[in-house]
Parts: sequence; C-alpha cells; structure tokens
Amino acid sequence: MTTLLIYAGPGDAAGAGTRTGGVPLVPPGFTWPHCDSCAAPMLFTAQIRTTAEATIALFLCRHNARAFRFATYRVAPAAAPGAVLSDVSAIRMVEVASSYEEACDAWPRRRDVLGQLGGSPAWSSHDETPTCAECGETMDFLAQLETNLEPRLQTHVGTRLDTGRETSLETNPDTNLATRRQTNPETNLEPDLETHGNTGRAYIFACPHCPETACRYQR
Ligand SMILES: [Zn+2]
Ligand SMILES: [Zn+2]
Repeated sequence: MTTLLIYAGPGDAAGAGTRTGGVPLVPPGFTWPHCDSCAAPMLFTAQIRTTAEATIALFLCRHNARAFRFATYRVAPAAAPGAVLSDVSAIRMVEVASSYEEACDAWPRRRDVLGQLGGSPAWSSHDETPTCAECGETMDFLAQLETNLEPRLQTHVGTRLDTGRETSLETNPDTNLATRRQTNPETNLEPDLETHGNTGRAYIFACPHCPETACRYQR
C-alpha cells in the first residue's frame, strides 16, 4: 500500500492541512532555520500532516534539507517567515495498491504526484535511511517529496506547471532561489521538465523515541 501526495489545486497559505508553499505553522519560539553551508534562510517548502497530532515542516536549500515535527495543537502561522514559496498547493492523499514508482508511472499526470506519506522510501540512488543522533535507533520514514533544487531548474513541489502562466518563487535574494520560469505553451511543461521530470527527492525521517528528525536529499 502506498499513500500518494497528489496536487489538489491552489491551497490556503496559512492553512493547517498538508500543502506546499505558504507560511509554515510553527510552535511559539520557533527560530527560522538557516542553511549550515550558505547561512541563508532556508526555503519553507511543505507542511505535512502525518497524523492528526503531528505536523511536519520541510525546509530546503540547495545544500540542505531540514524537517521539524511539531505537535499540531501548538502551532500557528510563523510571524516572520524567512523564505517562502508564493505558490501554495493543496495536497490530497490517495491510497494505491502498487509501489510508489509504479504509482508514479501509472498516474495520469505524473507531475501531480508530489510524493508519498509513509510506506517505504523510493530512493533515487542508494538507501540512506538515517539513525537517530540521540539514541542510535533506525529512524522511521515519514514522507518523501518530489522537488528539484538544481539552480537551473528551480522547480519545487508546489510550483504548478500546468497553468501556462509564469510561476515564481519569493525568497530572500541572498538564497539565489528566487526565479521566474515560463512554461512551454505547446506542452504546458517547463522546458527541463519535459525531459527530466522532477528529479530531486527529499526524504523525511523521525526517531520513534526522540524528537529528532532527519532529511535526505537525492537526485
Ligand atoms: Zn545553503
Ligand atoms: Zn532517537
């Protein structure tokens, strides 16, 4: 059984549901993450309700991915967002019997498959399942998202490609992530995606015992 994360149209930028883009819901005192490599504020990419009680916030940079797991009852929209996607996409969950890769291939519009919730990670390359830095336990796989942080492509989950209009990202200029892209009117696909698809994947894990989370990123 695979639970697909499927694009479900424009989303609520401050909503509590699973979505890409918009403002993350965070607990009091949350500090916006900055990249360890480039020091820029990381881009809030997605919020995933893994259970009724838990909300995951995923932040990306070209160099790193970070996830936070919050108790849903404690969160509210971040007061001072560091870097966010202007396009907000709602996500619905669809259960299918096949594997993630098979489901991606079978889905009518491949680009609407934004990832999966739970199940087994569909690694682009080798298995990088992390162990907890605190207790050494193998971490649980929570979700994966299709994304791409190639500077040339600048395509993130949540940046819709089928509207024919220009899409844009709103970010801190220092991150170099801000960009504008034009879709190809013939295919409604951005040029690189016609050949490459969404080639980047972020994988989110959490320790079954500790508050620790971890991310992996593969192309
Ligand atoms: Zn960075
Ligand atoms: Zn642990």
